[in-house]
Amino acid sequence: MLQTTNPTDQTCVFCRNEFIESSFCRTSRFSAYYNIAPILPGHSLIIPNKHYESLFELSEDEQSEMMVFARKITSVLKTVFNCDGFDWTIQDGVSAGQTVPHLHLHIVPRKPLDLPESNEWYSKIQPSENGILDSENRARLNDDEYNEITAKLKLACESITSKRID
Ligand SMILES: [Zn+2]
Repeated sequence: MLQTTNPTDQTCVFCRNEFIESSFCRTSRFSAYYNIAPILPGHSLIIPNKHYESLFELSEDEQSEMMVFARKITSVLKTVFNCDGFDWTIQDGVSAGQTVPHLHLHIVPRKPLDLPESNEWYSKIQPSENGILDSENRARLNDDEYNEITAKLKLACESITSKRID
């Protein structure tokens, strides 16, 4: 069941029901979403279901759970997108480039030579969160493409959720 009643902020794009419904994996505390405008194939987000702005608002238990959940999702993404590496990044605070004030971890699965410079993803990620995980500077998936990938990832995640990650 979707949890939409715990502390949320309806002015926040990550707390809106229509956004929550687009997750491909959800536990009682965390959800995973495919980025509508991925900087590379597989680019996804891990987001706490509760409206936390900063990593420092999480309890130690929640921090541990976020790490475990993110690692499992990363493992699924690496398999589905046939990647051998990944970048994780959290932009915590406006000065760090955070544009949506709801904690989120970017996962970007990587392959050799997928970008001209291996650290080029950071500049690409900057304009990516202007409200709806979209970017004028990156190709945005259409609804069919997005739904297809989300369905595929949902299926791939079923094996890990059956192992009770929540
Ligand atoms: Zn929120």
